[in-house]
Amino acid sequence: MTRLKLATVWLGGCSGCHMSFLDLDEWLFDLAAQVDLVYSPFMDTKEYPEGVDVVLIEGAIANEEHLHMIKTVRERSQILISFGDCAVTGNVTALRNPLGSAEPVLQRCYIEAADIHPQIPQEPGIVPQLLDRVTPVHAVVPVDIYLPGCPPSATRIKAALEPILHGETPQLAGREFIKFG
Ligand code: SF4
Repeated sequence: MTRLKLATVWLGGCSGCHMSFLDLDEWLFDLAAQVDLVYSPFMDTKEYPEGVDVVLIEGAIANEEHLHMIKTVRERSQILISFGDCAVTGNVTALRNPLGSAEPVLQRCYIEAADIHPQIPQEPGIVPQLLDRVTPVHAVVPVDIYLPGCPPSATRIKAALEPILHGETPQLAGREFIKFG
């Protein structure tokens, strides 16, 4: 049997969704027996590979690097899952949107709140430029499955992944599986 290529990607989120993934506990052994994890913050791979079967995307699109990454991920992945409320709606990451641009946040954090050496970090190629507006993943690329929750529970994550392992489409329905927060 062909093993699925699974990836997980961490964009503009707090990593709580990935922590919840680790809460799958012993089911991770079942999962590991059926998939090859080919890209993830859990491993040291620099380049997002071609031919990914399933990818979980944590976080919203908040900077130029996220924007580039999500387009690459979409091109190279068959099933893209918006993983958690930040990916699905923008959630916490998008709280700065009413300020109108990234500038007020940068001023507050790095200038007004600085104890020493107030300066906005700028290093092209190293520090990615913040986008003026944070967007959910589906605003940039097509999403195949939405997995809400802040974070989604391990039960919910399993309910999304297990059918895919059997070549089926997950049917997430009911409060337990689709409510936000
Ligand atoms: S959805 Fe919640 S847990 Fe997941 S990255 Fe966003 S804030 Fe963190």
